[in-house]
Amino acid sequence: MEISLLSGANAHPRLYTVFRDRESYNVLTYIWNVTHGGGKARPANEYRIQITGIANLAGAQQFKTKKDTKTLVLGWWDDIGVFCGFDVSHHLGPLGKSPSLQIGKDALETAHRSGFSIHNKGNGELALAFQPEFVCTYIKNLETLHDCGTSPSDLKVLSAIENDPEQVSEAEISRKASKARRYAIMTSTRALRDMNFRARVMTAYGRKCAICGIQLQLLDAAHILPVVHPDSDDETSNGIALCALHHRAYDKGLITFDADYKTHINSDEVARLREKNLDAGFDDFRKRIRPLIILPPDRKDRPAPKHVDRANEVRGWAL
Ligand SMILES: [Zn+2]
Repeated sequence: MEISLLSGANAHPRLYTVFRDRESYNVLTYIWNVTHGGGKARPANEYRIQITGIANLAGAQQFKTKKDTKTLVLGWWDDIGVFCGFDVSHHLGPLGKSPSLQIGKDALETAHRSGFSIHNKGNGELALAFQPEFVCTYIKNLETLHDCGTSPSDLKVLSAIENDPEQVSEAEISRKASKARRYAIMTSTRALRDMNFRARVMTAYGRKCAICGIQLQLLDAAHILPVVHPDSDDETSNGIALCALHHRAYDKGLITFDADYKTHINSDEVARLREKNLDAGFDDFRKRIRPLIILPPDRKDRPAPKHVDRANEVRGWAL
């Protein structure tokens, strides 16, 4: 994902263009801190953003919208590090005196736990809470996700997802979600599953590349058996933490590891590259490869031999 700021750095809202997967969106972004409603008059569970600093000419607070531009109304709960998003379509026009938008504390806590959660405000309005990694998926699908508030059956699917995105199958989403919102719900569930997979793999490997030990936040959570393979899964034992260089080299079949965790370099490929004068840096490259990959301390998180063997077969290795 890349972001470029089109408005002034101190403007509110800020206007961004977000680029991701060859798509781009213009995004008008409002954001405030999420705090407790304050005082004994408000329920203990009620958190909110207080809308300030966006007064129109008549002095009332009012959101602007812009053609071909998505409007984000966000809250940030700094104590835990989660966002919430409100549906601007329910808050157009001049807002009342001292306006605020509310979300339940439990929704924020659920998002911290599972990546994403919903807060049904009734009247078809749905507020969402989510972890920072979900922001791109939220931007892409926000209109459809907020719109789920108008459909009890779609709300049910979202409730299952907030409970545990790894327990909701794509078949179930196809069966239960409405046709108009199926794609957005499916995309969101996939993103949440990827986030969980990544978090588990990173923790298991101590945020180090299993091949060279580097950290520096250059890591990917790679699937051992590629996602497109029918036997692939999102278990930690089908994942490995690899730096960008070794992830690329692994996917290209230049390096691998076997079920005894020994690393291998593809000597045929190296010879081919040498012949073409494309082997500069190979000695350094070879030196950085550990003879055995780094292993997660918990045995059940280590690469599953069945996946390792099948992955090597798929990638054309004869070990
Ligand atoms: Zn590496």
